[in-house]
Amino acid sequence: GAVVDKVVRRFGDRVVLDHLDLTIADEELVVLLGPSGCGKSTLLRLLAGLDRPDGGLVEVPAKRAIVFQADRLLPWQRVLRNVTLGLRGPDAQKRGREVLAEVGLSGREGAWPKELSGGEAQRVSLARALVSEPELVLLDEPFAALDAITRLRMHDLVRALRSKHHAAMLLVTHDVDEAIALADRVVVMRDGRIGASHHLRLSAAEREASVAREELRSTL
Ligand code: ATP
Ligand code: MG
Repeated sequence: GAVVDKVVRRFGDRVVLDHLDLTIADEELVVLLGPSGCGKSTLLRLLAGLDRPDGGLVEVPAKRAIVFQADRLLPWQRVLRNVTLGLRGPDAQKRGREVLAEVGLSGREGAWPKELSGGEAQRVSLARALVSEPELVLLDEPFAALDAITRLRMHDLVRALRSKHHAAMLLVTHDVDEAIALADRVVVMRDGRIGASHHLRLSAAEREASVAREELRSTL
């Protein structure tokens, strides 16, 4: 998971994040909503380690990955190489192929990024994010540029990937239906903080705890 503790981020005299607190449980998928310019991408950049807070603490696992709205694939590298770039060791190719298969891109390993559709490129981005088995995945409007049908397919894909990869995820979107479709919990940013938090599904930890509670109850 991740812990954000009273984080402050200013740009000039503008306070974008104002003592923001947020905890993400292991394996929890949190969707972050909020108006344009409220600081969602700023928060994700801090969690990704691409930026530093002016105050407060950000606690994140070492293994994390970020996916942006527009794919950031290297145009001069083929799909498989784009996925395996951060990997070391003799199994890298095999691992890359496996994850590409999971996102439905078997057979496209040798394609160039410019030969991919928007949805395919984002599936490669997801594969690249997941290939190193991160504990935290940050997704900044990953499907915003896709058409509605492709977006629904991507929601199915995220759900399928979640049952296999046990990462916590923080996903930013402006699409409320997407939030409801994917989130364990939806949080809303307001005035530089998390203004509201809505549990939609039980997190894995809560599910385990509630099963354990039921088991205990049945023995009493
Ligand atoms: P959107 O929904 O439009 O993507 P957002 O919630 O992701 O918006 P951010 O990109 O986090 O918003 O930006 C929050 C505010 O911080 C904006 O006013 C933006 O102009 C400002 N900001 C972000 N990065 C910088 C920077 N490097 N320098 C100066 N100002 C910045
Ligand atoms: Mg943004």
